[in-house]
Amino acid sequence: MNMNKQLTYQPPFKYKALNLQGLLLFDIDGVIRDVAGSYRRAIQETVADFSGWKPSIDAIDTLKSEGCWNNDWDASLELLRRRQDDDNHDLKLPNREQVIEVFSRFYFGGDPDGDPSHWQGFICNEPLLVQRAFFDELTRMGFAWGFVSGAEPPSARFVLEKRLGLNNPALIAMGEAPDKPDPTGLLQLAQQLAGKALGESTPPIAYLGDTVADVLTVIQARQQQPDQQFVSLAVAPPHLHGRDHQTARNAYEERLKQAGADKILSCTAAAIETLKGW
Ligand SMILES: [Mg+2]
Repeated sequence: MNMNKQLTYQPPFKYKALNLQGLLLFDIDGVIRDVAGSYRRAIQETVADFSGWKPSIDAIDTLKSEGCWNNDWDASLELLRRRQDDDNHDLKLPNREQVIEVFSRFYFGGDPDGDPSHWQGFICNEPLLVQRAFFDELTRMGFAWGFVSGAEPPSARFVLEKRLGLNNPALIAMGEAPDKPDPTGLLQLAQQLAGKALGESTPPIAYLGDTVADVLTVIQARQQQPDQQFVSLAVAPPHLHGRDHQTARNAYEERLKQAGADKILSCTAAAIETLKGW
């Protein structure tokens, strides 16, 4: 994969005409779509396929809270490694390619680079957490927006273009920049959308994510561009919403705050109200 690939995306003319109020960049999984029944389930099923042991959603959250397991293939392999360390020394670990193959079978259920209408995996049933009108409203308010995600490009494009109906959205997906919490992708896309170098004269840049790695991405962006204002917005992933999960959600949100999140949102759509206060 070429990490230095130049992005072809150009900001639409309307952003240049508007007095830009700010930039809002989004993580996708857990923010734009609910992946509890897809990516997270694919982690569970992949680990079970190799070990016979299905990790709980809690175990996955705990791993993710370490801040460095944004990539779900690596997260699956790490869960297998820890399983071997803990109490199953006979467990034979697969290599990364084998993990990717099994994971893709569960998640896409078809060729990731092929026609999405042939996919039959968990990706087909991902609930959306916002609608297209949300992005129209951001544009109307003078905010430029885009996506920085660790999801595979076909999966990210599928949800943004086919499911949400966004037309050629500004996107950096897996393999197009180093994995989060490296802020390279965030900085690149922000600069493209702002249409100029980042710094004091560029409006605030917010990033909304649902994991510690997302928060750390903003912290590192700030270190690399100290003259630019960055805001870390965070939201607990949808599987922690609902009254039954209040205790787990409080603990999860506390970890996001401790990592440095500036504001915890009740849901993705609440970003509109937050930005109105800017
Ligand atoms: Mg996420």
